[in-house]
Amino acid sequence: MTSAGEAAARREELSTNLRHVRERIGSACRAAGRSPDGVALIVVTKFFPSSDVEALCRLGVTDIGENRDQEASAKIAALPSDVRERLQVHFIGQFQSNKAASLASYVDTVHSIDRDKVVRVLDRAAAATGRDIGALVQVSLSGDSPGRGRGGITLDRVVELANSVAAAEHLTFRGLMAVAPLRVDPADAFAELATVARWVRADHPEATWISAGMSADLEAAVANGATHLRVGSAILGSRPPLG
Ligand SMILES: *Cc1c(COP(=O)(O)O)cnc(C)c1O
Repeated sequence: MTSAGEAAARREELSTNLRHVRERIGSACRAAGRSPDGVALIVVTKFFPSSDVEALCRLGVTDIGENRDQEASAKIAALPSDVRERLQVHFIGQFQSNKAASLASYVDTVHSIDRDKVVRVLDRAAAATGRDIGALVQVSLSGDSPGRGRGGITLDRVVELANSVAAAEHLTFRGLMAVAPLRVDPADAFAELATVARWVRADHPEATWISAGMSADLEAAVANGATHLRVGSAILGSRPPLG
């Protein structure tokens, strides 16, 4: 196939997958009695090239998620400016504090705030760029294995970290993020997240985002109040192992 032919075939594949995921979200919303307007789709483009990000944007995608600074910053720099201007970039991976300045230069929202140190460095980096950054506290749900699990702060310390994010001058506290632990029913995991989100909103009513649900468990997330889904492989295809 010619490379123009390959690009057209890839656009067709992304378009079909995107339509299928939007149908799943629509059905999950109907089943939960929710409006699809209350559920945002973040397409996770990690491991895939900027040409896919561009194609997705031209198919109406407005939000993308990335989990490695080096990969994401190069990919975003390669986008045509009209595409870049229309995209919201979400960072969903663990990061060391020395990445904060780079992240602050292109990220709109960081979903993976898991300790006080990154609150401080990200706040300072945002101040230096002159632009506020949205921030979510990543929660480690029950049944996750400490240290080797899906990441996030333990339940007993969520409120304290939430207070710290809310107090940071250049961060806008948006809410909570979690990944369902392996070997736990995702519906139980996301119900727990919804409960923690209610505690947090008692003190921070503006923190309305619940970022939960991936390709395999988005229905359970919608049923339990997720406002932002992070969907990768169901749209882009499977990643190389260790994604
Ligand atoms: C990769 C990733 C996703 C997307 O996962 P899929 O199973 O490919 O949909 C969502 N959230 C986080 C934190 C991720 O790292």
